[in-house]
Amino acid sequence: MTMSKILIRGAKVLGGEPADVLIDGETIVETGTGIEAGDATVIEAAGQILLPGLVDLHTHLREPGREDSETVLTGTKAAAVGGFTAVHAMANTFPVADTAGVVEQVWRLGKESGYCDVQPVGAVTVGLEGKQLAELGAMHDSAAGVKVFSDDGKCVDDAVIMRRALEYVKAFDGVVAQHAQEPRLTEGAQMNEGIVSAELGLGGWPAVAEESIIARDVLLAAHVGSRVHICHLSTAGSVEIVRWAKSKGWNVTAEVTPHHLLLTDELVRTYNPVYKVNPPLRTEADVMALREALADGTIDCVATDHAPHPHEDKDCEWAAAAMGMVGLETALSVVQQTMVDTGLLDWAGVADRMSMRPAAIGRLEGHGRPVSAGEPANLTLVDPAYRGAVDPAGFASRSRNTPYEGRELPGRVTHTFLRGRATVVDGKLA
Ligand SMILES: [Zn+2]
Repeated sequence: MTMSKILIRGAKVLGGEPADVLIDGETIVETGTGIEAGDATVIEAAGQILLPGLVDLHTHLREPGREDSETVLTGTKAAAVGGFTAVHAMANTFPVADTAGVVEQVWRLGKESGYCDVQPVGAVTVGLEGKQLAELGAMHDSAAGVKVFSDDGKCVDDAVIMRRALEYVKAFDGVVAQHAQEPRLTEGAQMNEGIVSAELGLGGWPAVAEESIIARDVLLAAHVGSRVHICHLSTAGSVEIVRWAKSKGWNVTAEVTPHHLLLTDELVRTYNPVYKVNPPLRTEADVMALREALADGTIDCVATDHAPHPHEDKDCEWAAAAMGMVGLETALSVVQQTMVDTGLLDWAGVADRMSMRPAAIGRLEGHGRPVSAGEPANLTLVDPAYRGAVDPAGFASRSRNTPYEGRELPGRVTHTFLRGRATVVDGKLA
């Protein structure tokens, strides 16, 4: 469906009153009630929610190097199915995205895909080795226009390197996104350190390994007057540190993944490696603290940490399995279940936490905009009444490592529009 004019009729815009939205070409040209369809293609959307296209700050697309698990094409298809119109592609590829050449390659592949905009993230250090700053300026000045830098998968654990990175990105209003994991405290760690790890005899991953790095980095960001973003918060203590840093007026932002809003370390008792993830699933008390923090804005946004792995890296014993879960195609449903259906967040709040805020943190233009005339038509239409069991066989992603197989989740993305072009129609790729 590549009609130039589309009329979305009767959807609740950001969950508010039903309205019509007319798209012409790449742009929203009119919103209101009783808009004449004329020669536009009409999408009847009564009962559905219209949101700005979702933006992910944290996606692993795996290309170049691990095309057996995902490619930019399959990953952007999965993103579109999940309602995303822009994703940030993490730098831990092979080769690592630590040069202008590699980020431009990923950026070009994104342009060719056409399903979802791809904004490459640049590595902070050469080869993610944490020893020497990568060419941050060259990546920023490249066609890819990198503004978010991260060694995600690894922590920038050297305080001097972290300080230099924060100072460097300040010059162009960039941000360092930290994967907060103190390496010495997590050697051999297999799951959250607590009652369950003690009972199962698995190596524990203490909350302090995350919290000590976050505490250090918010202090560093304040000291040099730069922006720091904390990836995938997973503990109640991390929430407290971010809340404190924000109360000081420091430039600190944070994300939480859908799985950390729903799942706990009790699931590890199954020894099913599909629940093995970095940072690990924590406790019920952590889950509740994360939900509350997302609701009150202490945590700025939801980010998927979509981490595809081929089955041979997950279908093995717990200790040998790779860490990570796919998440793009189920993110909005998990957020509906944990935040909307619980009354913690309304749909306008979802739009803020899954589109406006992540676009603002990434300084991404053309996304996370209001649904109003003159804005780019990056839109997501959701049927919140839908109920269905997750079937990974139907995923657009190349990988199947979802923790939600067979689980009934609410809501379904029916349509996604990228600059006025439908990438998803009736829940299926266009
Ligand atoms: Zn990470």
